[in-house]
Amino acid sequence: MKYIGIAISLLLTLISANLHAQCGAELTEEDHAYIQSTQTPMRSFNANITRGVRDMPVKVHIVRRANRTGGMNEASLMAALQQVNEHYINANLRFVMLKGINYIDSDQYYNFSNANEQALCGQHDIDNVINLYFFGSVYKGKVQVCGYSYYPNKSSSYSDRDRIILDNACVDGGTTLIHELGHFFSLYHTHGRGKEKELVTRTADVRNCEKAGDNLCDTAADPMIINEVDRNCNYTGTRSDARGEKYRPDPRNIMAYSADGCRQRFSKGQFGRMNYAAINMRSYMTMPKGLAIHNIADGVKKPSVTTSPPKPKPSTTTKPKPTTTTTSITTTSSKDHILSGEVMLQISGRAVDMSLDGNLYRPTRPFYSGTNYQMSMTNNDIGFVYVIGSDLTKKNTQIFPQTNQTAYISVENSRMTLPSAGSMFQMDQTKGKDYICVLYSKRPIRMDLVMQEMERVSGNFMQRLYKVLWHQLVPQNHIEYKNISNRLVFSANAGQHSIVPVVIELEHE
Ligand SMILES: [Zn+2]
Repeated sequence: MKYIGIAISLLLTLISANLHAQCGAELTEEDHAYIQSTQTPMRSFNANITRGVRDMPVKVHIVRRANRTGGMNEASLMAALQQVNEHYINANLRFVMLKGINYIDSDQYYNFSNANEQALCGQHDIDNVINLYFFGSVYKGKVQVCGYSYYPNKSSSYSDRDRIILDNACVDGGTTLIHELGHFFSLYHTHGRGKEKELVTRTADVRNCEKAGDNLCDTAADPMIINEVDRNCNYTGTRSDARGEKYRPDPRNIMAYSADGCRQRFSKGQFGRMNYAAINMRSYMTMPKGLAIHNIADGVKKPSVTTSPPKPKPSTTTKPKPTTTTTSITTTSSKDHILSGEVMLQISGRAVDMSLDGNLYRPTRPFYSGTNYQMSMTNNDIGFVYVIGSDLTKKNTQIFPQTNQTAYISVENSRMTLPSAGSMFQMDQTKGKDYICVLYSKRPIRMDLVMQEMERVSGNFMQRLYKVLWHQLVPQNHIEYKNISNRLVFSANAGQHSIVPVVIELEHE
């Protein structure tokens, strides 16, 4: 196996002994060849459309000294994962931590050498999840690094290494975890392999950005800027490209060899490539079905939009639900965490054909202005239901409940028709995408706050929904989404989480 030695040798010469090299990830020739072989579909992948969000399972292994000291601090870990999520939701990914941190107490491994990687990780890895290992220090050969990970390449000899090796100090308050995940989802450093020098110019007849550097044309050409970034995150180098044009690299890009404090963003192209890699190269990543989830929400200071405790036993007085037809089949049960139901869109009494992309439903045909439709919803369990509508303007409208209605569904197997049994929604004249989002919840939701927050944050509808609700959304290994004859059926075990979203994207022509 041939390794690219450039990064390591430059690091050895440029980095003073007491500084960590930023990254020990190695792009092998075979990784590079594999990733190059996917360039055509990768480039045609449209990152601008709304997609379903995929939950990525993470298992945390923390190595401590034998006396149990020196391990990665749990609060810092939660903060780092939250930071990861705030970036990666833009690639339609959410990282969900499996319950239970695996503590490994060992003086032999605490200061880690990659020579011991198989001996240690081989016995602790969980298959098909991202295994994160935290150490007091990490050495790759003789070089101390902040961490390293592996590129997606299922045909390589190390394809089973679904793991990221991390130095605690580089993760705590740093961007190393975000950076290494970038490699895990196929991103190169912005300076690329250092072989094919990228040109600054991006005009169609001159540029080589598809083949050189990081193969992305929306990240600036980067000559490898280590030690050439000042404290204000400006590039201080003076080098020029092969055409004599001065480099203007981006020291704020997370995949740059910049000062860690400067690295804060991915480009749109990087998000798109990571989303492509997650769907096509890391598709074997699976949330172990039903396996418990670590309660990340506990470690994150974020305002909750659900109010607790859950509603007490329903009173016997009838709730006003003017547009709701309710058929009670069963009475009380102890299915406290179960949420299940279905949603169906109908035109002229017929179910609209739907396709499912992750957790996003789309009608297979566009809707035209003036189309009349109804939505029917079934709620099999006692809980709360909210429906909002939105379009590309970010403006949300609450469809259900209206002021004279309640979100609380007090009987099982309730079915309702929206807007009401005798009326229809009509597509207006504003073309583009429309969204209908049904939130099934175990707890009451402050929809006013949710809608307000969703207008404030950036991203498409799905991303904004996740950015606001985060860990209140039930992880996907606890939900089953199905499309049964165009009835959008789900069942979920909410556990400590509370909300299951059913999101429909309508193409409006
Ligand atoms: Zn790196």
